[in-house]
Amino acid sequence: MLTKRGNGLSRRDFLRLAGGTLASLGMSGALAPKLARALEKAAAGRPRVVWLHFASDTGCTESFIKSDSPDAAELVLDILSVDYHESIMAAAGKQAGEVLARAVAGKDYLCIVEGGIPTVPGHGRIGGREMLDIAKEVCGNATAVVAIGSCAVDGGVPAAAPNPSRIMGVGDALGRKVVNLPCCPVNPEWLVGTVVYVLTMGKVPELDDKGRPKMFYGRKIHDNCPRRTHFDGGRFVERFGSKEEAAGYCLYKMGCKGPETWSECPRTRWNSKESWCIEIGSPCLGCAENRWTDNFSPFYGKLADVALPYGDLTADKIGVGIAVATGAAIAAHAVVKAARGKAPDDDRKE
Ligand code: SF4
Ligand code: SF4
Repeated sequence: MLTKRGNGLSRRDFLRLAGGTLASLGMSGALAPKLARALEKAAAGRPRVVWLHFASDTGCTESFIKSDSPDAAELVLDILSVDYHESIMAAAGKQAGEVLARAVAGKDYLCIVEGGIPTVPGHGRIGGREMLDIAKEVCGNATAVVAIGSCAVDGGVPAAAPNPSRIMGVGDALGRKVVNLPCCPVNPEWLVGTVVYVLTMGKVPELDDKGRPKMFYGRKIHDNCPRRTHFDGGRFVERFGSKEEAAGYCLYKMGCKGPETWSECPRTRWNSKESWCIEIGSPCLGCAENRWTDNFSPFYGKLADVALPYGDLTADKIGVGIAVATGAAIAAHAVVKAARGKAPDDDRKE
């Protein structure tokens, strides 16, 4: 079991954590003192968390331990009581099984699930038990279940066709409502923001029809993308290594799935807000959406059914089109002026 650090957190620490959380939630910093008080109160009771790990590559744990608002160590050691987490707990083997049994017997805990659940008997076991049975027992006693990363949400990469182990997301495998935090891996700020929200508000945040918190998945990437003016202007990258790529044009024709992906990646960003996919020049692969590996393949293939502002034309052709249209407009303007008895450029003197 992970144990609390001796020093705990000061009032100033709670204010800093609250400020970081509000920023990730996109809320006003003026609420920081209120959130800090709620966080402090929650931490006094050290809410219990059981973190299950099934079919995945541990990428979401990797992502979480890099969180810095709040810092994952502060969250795990000072605010929460993480009673079970196979990747970071000291116990192993039989002892780990005993820790899990004790944690579940205590009830009143938040369950975080990483990884999809193999539903074919014998295809996924931990300590001799079927992953599905462990999930049923542990999630069944939890006050709330949060499925993190694409694998826990809908099976993710391990469930890509033909999926011989019939790996499923937690909600589908258990037939129950869970909070879904997709992406590959989970964005650590969204995970921390969701946990802090549940702790301080005593309820799960408002969810969309796919079980995703609207505060993190409520807007399309395409509608908040810094390259959107290039999309609207018909300026596209058509080849990596081109001058259009260097100019930062829209990545739609390189397979960007931003027009069909709902997530706050442009605002929250990744790696301590350092950058995010489209900013570093990669098209969005749509990993916040269900079954993205199957539905959005090939990754660098163009999305169908996206209306382009000028049809499927290159920027050069659009430029020629605009020049022709402009020339025609000037000619028409000159005819009207002549009919009114003015020279074509008399407007400058009016
Ligand atoms: S297609 Fe992609 S790169 Fe282009 S504006 Fe939309 S989200 Fe941004
Ligand atoms: S920008 Fe797209 S591919 Fe990148 S993390 Fe966000 S949803 Fe996933």
